[in-house]
Amino acid sequence: MNTKTEIMEELKNLPGLKKQELKKCALCDQGMMHSGDIQFYRLSLESFVIDHRGVQETSGMEQMMGGGSFGAMMAGVMGTNPDIAKQMFQEKNMLVCSPCMMSGRLSTILSYIEAKSDEDAKNEH
Ligand SMILES: [Zn+2]
Repeated sequence: MNTKTEIMEELKNLPGLKKQELKKCALCDQGMMHSGDIQFYRLSLESFVIDHRGVQETSGMEQMMGGGSFGAMMAGVMGTNPDIAKQMFQEKNMLVCSPCMMSGRLSTILSYIEAKSDEDAKNEH
């Protein structure tokens, strides 16, 4: 069993956050320790959608090169290597408190990001 001193010594060597990097929970808008739990999470999420033009272009090139795994390999070498998915939004360094994270409600996190993404889009215009 680790003594308190040993635990403190181990914590010293871990990557950290400064006070000014702490923000309220992205989901419940409360402080990271509001529940008394000292653990919290930093999330980064990206959302993508399939770009059908890129898929069609890739598929067409594969067919032109004879199809199958050989066609796919040749298309990879000869083709333009288009994006087959496009990033819709990203959210970096989102802090989430332990109770929100443990609620297991990923849909809540996604709703937050989508709402923020809409907000950002409005602010750009
Ligand atoms: Zn929270």
